[in-house]
Amino acid sequence: MSTSTGEKPLLRVKDISVAFPVTGRGIVRRRIGSVRAVDGVSFELRQNETLGLVGETGSGKSTTALAVLRMLDLSGGRIEFDGHDITRLGRARMRRLRRGMQMIFQDPFASLNPRMRIGRILEEPLVVHGLTGDGRGSARRVDELLELVGLDSGTRDRFPHEFSGGQRQRISIARALAVSPKLLICDEPVSALDVSIQAQIINLLVDLKRRTGLALLFIAHDLALVRHISDRVAVMYAGRIVELADRDALYERPLHPYTQALLAAVPRPDPEVETARGIGLLPDEPPRSIDPALGCPFSLRCPKAMDVCRCETPPLRMRDARAVACHLYGPD
Ligand code: SF4
Repeated sequence: MSTSTGEKPLLRVKDISVAFPVTGRGIVRRRIGSVRAVDGVSFELRQNETLGLVGETGSGKSTTALAVLRMLDLSGGRIEFDGHDITRLGRARMRRLRRGMQMIFQDPFASLNPRMRIGRILEEPLVVHGLTGDGRGSARRVDELLELVGLDSGTRDRFPHEFSGGQRQRISIARALAVSPKLLICDEPVSALDVSIQAQIINLLVDLKRRTGLALLFIAHDLALVRHISDRVAVMYAGRIVELADRDALYERPLHPYTQALLAAVPRPDPEVETARGIGLLPDEPPRSIDPALGCPFSLRCPKAMDVCRCETPPLRMRDARAVACHLYGPD
């Protein structure tokens, strides 16, 4: 199965898994199993491309992002970034390479030190990575960064609490861009913001990608937002990618029953359409990812489940120019 883009990728993630131990109660707390938060995930991402990663809470999106950054240990698989195998890289070398891969988080307020002025916050990554040059150089860079994200350079002496939520997320983006990364991982970057501000931040990310050639791994549960920003979209369920396709192909003709259910649950502006189609297509059953994994993880909720689905896990394979993991679709 190929999940490649056809060009030399900036990031190549091959069959990665992340497992967390489950321990029993009592004093001994013996290990009784494991939760596979990420299970055999593969994808590639090239420069100046945005891959959207969607799925419900607990589907493994954020764990995948942390694994890519090597902030979590892998149970298996391989990660290559910018031509380097980073799967088992030591701390010092990983720190140097991490300059090329930065992350922005859901809550900009929690990720900014409330006691530091904005100028210091933006200078900090330059200091950590030895990029300060003379003092004037770093001051110029701070002004450039503020301008890049649409903030006035006069704001450099203010504290995070003096900004709105949208402005704080702009500051987080500026801090991530300070070291000129090639990859920006955005983990639900707008879900804590007002709807009116969300569009501004998304447009800013689109514009930054166009101007700098950044690659974006954009994680969200809002499918409308992901459609707006992504070139390709991967749908995750229970730690696995169940469908990966070009954006338009996925939104116009989803194949996997889970993708179909997610898209069916997106609210439409027409109240008649909304009433006619009904809502709540997904029974409220959490994704299961505890050993042993038998069959399709979506089988308990899938309206199209067959006998085979309960005993054989469907592999991710190519079908109609996309990758899909479902027994309804054989190989091309
Ligand atoms: Fe549904 Fe079976 Fe496909 Fe899983 S493999 S999504 S249960 S039809």
